[in-house]
Amino acid sequence: MPRKPRDRKKESRTYYLANKEVIIKRVTDRYAEKREEILSKNRKDYAENKEEFMAKMNAYRDKVGKATVLAWARKGNQTYKQKLKAEVIAAYGGACQCCGETIPEFLSAEHVGRWGARHRREEGWKARGASLYMRIKQLGFPKDKFGVLCMNCQMATKDGKPCPHTKVDVQSALMGVAC
Ligand SMILES: [Zn+2]
Ligand SMILES: [Zn+2]
Repeated sequence: MPRKPRDRKKESRTYYLANKEVIIKRVTDRYAEKREEILSKNRKDYAENKEEFMAKMNAYRDKVGKATVLAWARKGNQTYKQKLKAEVIAAYGGACQCCGETIPEFLSAEHVGRWGARHRREEGWKARGASLYMRIKQLGFPKDKFGVLCMNCQMATKDGKPCPHTKVDVQSALMGVAC
């Protein structure tokens, strides 16, 4: 007797759950090995069947609802930003370069040497927020252009005053720092 599709689905789910780790590893390994090949094939498929892809995507969006899709996108974006920020902070020593604060929520990347205003004028939104982290990464985390400080130390040294923690002009000090 031919099996009902429903049973097959159930069976493959059971198989997946029982062998989850092996399956995930197999897929990840294959991807790592053939990343470029897979990506260029996907790009080609997309270019050749753009309309079909868009139609499918729109149908899916209608099915799950626009709000759900947006929420997913936001979540993915947040994770990406968090990872990027963590990478930048780690590259600058993983702590405030003045007081040593390590709690990520308190830390952010800073222009050092007071060129932040000029950078924002020249590059606009690219010199702010998550885009700034991206830029820092692209530039290879230059230690004489950027630094990581906690909110307290940033506030305290904003107008070029030495930080009360160390009595040092952090901005100028960081410019000469080779971490
Ligand atoms: Zn600090
Ligand atoms: Zn400080």
